Amino acid sequence: TSGKALFDGKDLLSLPMNQMTNIWGQEIAMVFQDPMTSLNPVVKIGRQVSEHVRKHLSLSRREARELAVQLLKSVRIPEAEVAYSSFPHELSGGMRQRVSIAIALACGPQLLFADEPTTALDVTVQHQILNLLGLQQSERDMAMVLVTHDLGVVAGRTDEIIVMYAGKIVEQASTHQIFQNTSHPYTEALLRSIPKTDQPSHTRLAAIAGRPPNLITMPSGCSFSPRCPYAQERCFEEEPPLTVTKEGHATACWYQVGTEANRAAWDKNLAAGRPATLAVAEGQVIDEVPIDIGAGGA
Ligand code: SF4
Repeated sequence: TSGKALFDGKDLLSLPMNQMTNIWGQEIAMVFQDPMTSLNPVVKIGRQVSEHVRKHLSLSRREARELAVQLLKSVRIPEAEVAYSSFPHELSGGMRQRVSIAIALACGPQLLFADEPTTALDVTVQHQILNLLGLQQSERDMAMVLVTHDLGVVAGRTDEIIVMYAGKIVEQASTHQIFQNTSHPYTEALLRSIPKTDQPSHTRLAAIAGRPPNLITMPSGCSFSPRCPYAQERCFEEEPPLTVTKEGHATACWYQVGTEANRAAWDKNLAAGRPATLAVAEGQVIDEVPIDIGAGGA
């Protein structure tokens, strides 16, 4: 890896560990995917929240307890005093995730990372947790980075979306642009995979053909090329750079969705019977895509 991780003018990658531990939890906080693994299962909720605030805010035991109960109330945990004295396994998955959010918000961070915060939860609880995060973000005037594989989760909740594939940015734009003017084939495939409410029941979900690449032995050229329905010979040889339009829409693709070149690439691949293209055209689910370099021509 290379590059910098800038936060408030500081490069986090070059800071010594003691300065980083002050930033983590205090200025930058994180909510993890599964609260059952991020919370300590043998320590009561109250102690987990109050220890965190005592460590970072130098509060007395009584002050820390009061703040912990207040935090549990702020994330809409009913009977916060009871939850304070409970073990994690005594709460539901949604309540445990609220506790994780309370811990993350305890020191008033400027930036909150929420890493797949709703993956382990059922759909109705997912909605409540996302609403809670959105509410806390606006009430606290805090920035939030929501990491997800589900574009349905971020629709209507974010200002900007960065789509990454194999560890690199492939598309970056405002949320409106990403949904209305999708330009990268991977983003298009992610959007296609969101189930639609008007689909008949038992409609097969649209999966992306093939599997993500092995990051140690990356394919040459574009890393999405083995799975891309539009891939041409150039895609297997040259890695596309991230180019930015004047509207600030950045895409790394030689044959961007919606362009004439993209339509021609699709027609060529369809005529050549390229598996990744046929899979999209016919709605098939295929796990392994044979790499057919040059099947569609240059
Ligand atoms: S069209 Fe080519 S460059 Fe664009 S995503 Fe597909 S394989 Fe990559």
